[in-house]
Amino acid sequence: MSFLTESHKKNRPLHVEIDDKSGFCFGVIRAIAKAEEELDRGSLIYSLGDIVHNDLEVDRLNSMGLKGIDHQAFGQLQEGTVLFRAHGEPPESYRIIRNNKLKLIDATCPVVLQLQKKVKSAWVEMKEKGGQIAIYGKKGHAEVRGLAGQTNYEAIILEGEEDVKFVDPEHPVALFSQTTKSPVIFHKIAEALKNRAKNGVEVKIHDTICRQVSNRAPHLQEFAQRHQVVIFVGGTKSSNARSLYQACVSVNPKTFFIIGPEELQTSWFERRPASIGVCGATSTPQWLMEKVAEKIRSF
Ligand code: SF4
Repeated sequence: MSFLTESHKKNRPLHVEIDDKSGFCFGVIRAIAKAEEELDRGSLIYSLGDIVHNDLEVDRLNSMGLKGIDHQAFGQLQEGTVLFRAHGEPPESYRIIRNNKLKLIDATCPVVLQLQKKVKSAWVEMKEKGGQIAIYGKKGHAEVRGLAGQTNYEAIILEGEEDVKFVDPEHPVALFSQTTKSPVIFHKIAEALKNRAKNGVEVKIHDTICRQVSNRAPHLQEFAQRHQVVIFVGGTKSSNARSLYQACVSVNPKTFFIIGPEELQTSWFERRPASIGVCGATSTPQWLMEKVAEKIRSF
């Protein structure tokens, strides 16, 4: 029971907390730092795909001289500097760099680079045994393309447990994961593959989910439960933002998704909530969450 009168509530300052675990992972911070270092020298850089799935951060870097290009335009490029983002690229992208004599800023996350090497050596090993490579990931996702490229695109991409039917149970298989996928589903897929394998057929499980992001959903749920109102800041193109927002809303229905401070609505704070949480996805820049918190405090 609250003993605060309506007038007390109206006058109390809004308490806003920014989640200290939200925001860019180490791989994205490193990629942006590499881009900024080159842009500070006044160079024009082509980024192969969005450096991060957040339009406001991309606009900020574009204004400094970063220009996004797709793979088709990249294939035609005859000069300039190209940045490979944290997701990594398949071998043919490196071939284009060499053949067209382009300058490369390779901002592939070191964790992804290691994973690409592991997938490649497992593929070589599996080829000798007549085995298969399976990758739990999103078809068409840049990181998954980079991984599948290590296997000459022979890897079987599993988007969920139901896709294990595409793996031949009579031949060995090595399972990997896209770094940002759900550990729960990965373990279900691993179990399903083991259960389906015919007697004695080898099933090698490589849990390659990045721990920088895998525990963000439970952490954010705990954060969302601690606050009366939660403002989730994310880009509309980011699937990570959508799924983390859903995780928050499932435990706190007063969670609102915005792309920037201009989308804040004063009506969300009319009852002067005692605590407001601001959080975001792995693609949400820290400066943007700070701007949002600042605007809320000004209400
Ligand atoms: S999620 Fe992990 S592996 Fe992926 S870019 Fe970030 S730090 Fe690297």
